[in-house]
Amino acid sequence: MKSAVLFDKVAVIGLGLIGSSLCWRIKRDGLAKHVAGHARTKATRDKAMELGFIDSVHATAAEAACEADLVVLCAPIGANAAIAEEIGPGLKRGAVVSDVGSVKVCVIRDVGPYLPDGVHLVPGHPVAGTEHSGPESGFPELFENRYCILTPPPGADSGAVERVATLWRRAGSNVELMDPHHHDRVLAVTSHLPHLISYTIVGTAADLEMQLRREKQDISDVVETREVIKYSAGGFRDFTRIAASDPVMWRDIFLNNRDAVLELLGRFVEDLTALQRAIRWGEGETLEEFFTRTRAIRRGVIEMRQAGSFKPTEPEKE
Ligand code: NAP
Repeated sequence: MKSAVLFDKVAVIGLGLIGSSLCWRIKRDGLAKHVAGHARTKATRDKAMELGFIDSVHATAAEAACEADLVVLCAPIGANAAIAEEIGPGLKRGAVVSDVGSVKVCVIRDVGPYLPDGVHLVPGHPVAGTEHSGPESGFPELFENRYCILTPPPGADSGAVERVATLWRRAGSNVELMDPHHHDRVLAVTSHLPHLISYTIVGTAADLEMQLRREKQDISDVVETREVIKYSAGGFRDFTRIAASDPVMWRDIFLNNRDAVLELLGRFVEDLTALQRAIRWGEGETLEEFFTRTRAIRRGVIEMRQAGSFKPTEPEKE
């Protein structure tokens, strides 16, 4: 059964994985009368119309956002300021502007100043995703049983917050409200650092062989790239999946959550050094104790139903 209509017109700016999944869900469940879309390139805009997850496509963000009750920014976070500057003057009074960005303090900083009086900002972050991107990668179940964190700035309009929360609940998510600074620290731990580590491990493995060959060392002991791929089931494969995530999106995340990521990275390096030392000195007890503690965390994630997949493409939290 279809849910009641929540908005007359929703505009989605950025029609990749997250934007298209949101559009699919809105259309599937009749959450808005009209979904307008805009993306940077004509190729994506045409593809979005062809796939049918938007009702109208627009060459500019301002045109898409005109007369919208809700505008959701779904482009990489580095693009938000320019988009907000463009759409700001044409937004209708009472409209709500939200987003899906993986870092939240920067959204308030970049978007807030361009919104006219009477327009409400309710930043959001659906903690859901896959390593795929682009308009063809979306599907309506992406947000099912995932968390969506809303980070309204102080003094935000409670009616606007509730409208955005209702949208995400109808999209299948569990909605939580959080302070934006706290959000950025939490996500630095749960998402940003793991991605950085994955990028590093995969990069290191790829560089290893190349570098040793270049230095003309004896390569009989060198781990070759084809061996890494062939035997990747032993943990490396999971890292390659994460390290395949969109480079632009992740560049913007690290540039915009710099302090939290750098602080955490310092702690991580300390812990890594402690493990390195335990291995060197044969301190088996230290290692076992550490691994027992981390195993319990995995159990906690499964118990909260935040691991596992709902679609054949193996969607995972970002
Ligand atoms: P994506 O699949 O790469 O799609 C990005 C979309 O933004 C594309 O349609 C792109 O258009 C468009 N775009 C880029 N620059 C633009 C601009 N200046 N103006 C208008 N449109 C522009 O990315 P995504 O995975 O959906 O991520 C989008 C946002 O969701 C990011 O802020 C990210 O932090 C957040 N997020 C991502 C995940 C995840 O796991 N992927 C999870 C939660 C939140 P073209 O195709 O024409 O270039």
